[in-house]
Amino acid sequence: MTLHIYNTLTRTKEPFQPIDPDRITMYVCGPTVYDYIHIGNARPAIFFDVVRRYLETLDYEVNYIVNFTDVDDKLIRKAADLGSTVQEVAERFIQAFYEDNDGLGIRRASNNPRVTDNMEEIIAFISELVANGKAYESGGDVYFRTREFAKYGQVSGQNIDELQLGIRIEVDERKDDAADFVLWKAAKPGEISWSSPWGEGRPGWHIECSAMSRKYLGETIDIHGGGQDLQFPHHECEAAQSESVTGKPLANVWMHNGYINIDNEKMSKSLGNGVTVHQLLKQYDPAALRYFMLSTHYRNPLNFNAEAMEQAEKSVSRIANAVANVRHALASLNTDPSVQEDANEALQVKIASILETFDAKMQDDFNTADAITAVFEWASEANSYLQQADSLAAGDLEALLDAFEAMNEVLGLVLEKEEELLDEEIDQLIQERNDARKAKNWARADEIRDLLTEQGIVLEDTPQGVRWRRK
Ligand SMILES: [Zn+2]
Repeated sequence: MTLHIYNTLTRTKEPFQPIDPDRITMYVCGPTVYDYIHIGNARPAIFFDVVRRYLETLDYEVNYIVNFTDVDDKLIRKAADLGSTVQEVAERFIQAFYEDNDGLGIRRASNNPRVTDNMEEIIAFISELVANGKAYESGGDVYFRTREFAKYGQVSGQNIDELQLGIRIEVDERKDDAADFVLWKAAKPGEISWSSPWGEGRPGWHIECSAMSRKYLGETIDIHGGGQDLQFPHHECEAAQSESVTGKPLANVWMHNGYINIDNEKMSKSLGNGVTVHQLLKQYDPAALRYFMLSTHYRNPLNFNAEAMEQAEKSVSRIANAVANVRHALASLNTDPSVQEDANEALQVKIASILETFDAKMQDDFNTADAITAVFEWASEANSYLQQADSLAAGDLEALLDAFEAMNEVLGLVLEKEEELLDEEIDQLIQERNDARKAKNWARADEIRDLLTEQGIVLEDTPQGVRWRRK
């Protein structure tokens, strides 16, 4: 099997060949940190987290960069509204971004570079474009000569004249051509600004990703990802700027995830349906949010609504219950964990086939929707195995758990946090154990102790009663 990825550049699924056989470079455009991230941001965040996790399970070392746009018009407006500085607004929502991402079980990127920390590289990048004639200064702004770049349109798959029809172009006498886009904006009075060869100002949006992906990952990277909404103009412009400087493609593979609709309406702030992750995490199990995002193919549109989330919650709890039951059965067996047993042959065959299906689906352009069906097959297998309660064997249970963990390592449908017992649950179990001991039900008392031990809870019998601590 070879991993195939749908490449936006060629509009086909291609066998994936990284530039370096051991290391993968991957850049995904991150948020503008002027507010909480919304559900539309959560889709690429979760999906590309899964891409990264899967590549890591294939033994690649993944250098994964997600940038923060920490200066732009929206930040400047927000800071003015709040009576605070752009830096304070950015800092606040970067922290919120981390909290929300952690809450969603998204592993942190290798680095989250910020625009304001990379001003030198951004200015140098623009200077190179000006020096080689691909960009020009006009009234303190700098513009990219779009028509000079013959491959403009490669990412969005349209030619330059068609593309301009789709967007509103303001007549601007500072531009030589309406299709030119801004690389550097002259500062308006009182605005946050940096010194540059063209005077005080700040960078346009697209240039930051070209400059930061070159700095952190190199001239050509393996995978550039983002939402479909970024294809044009953002990714088109990134590709044009980078190739105009280096003479090499910015990325070999471009990946784009589909839109999210809310109750079948395209999400937009003006409709008042810009649902934030901050809010969703209070309402829903984070694992269910991951499940919801991954149960549809990433290139298809996704419709968010309460029914879909209810369904997702039921589905993840079915999986989580099967896992908890297998763990519990294993703990109850009271076997010496150092004694390794093999699973019975029939079970081994079934597990191997489930894992093979899972892998085949992931290799087929990260088809998480179908990979999840393999997780359900696993859950049915685990449940039916547990029903033969009299012949449970540690080796079988361990093999089941290992298989689940291999898949969960990629999808994260049972989050580590959820597996941890809450303090109240521990107290309740200890109470139950005390009652069992009073009733001389030693088997149940031992079972509870083992369950707690497995969760890293150490019990100490003291004259004042049982005390517990986490290992
Ligand atoms: Zn970008």
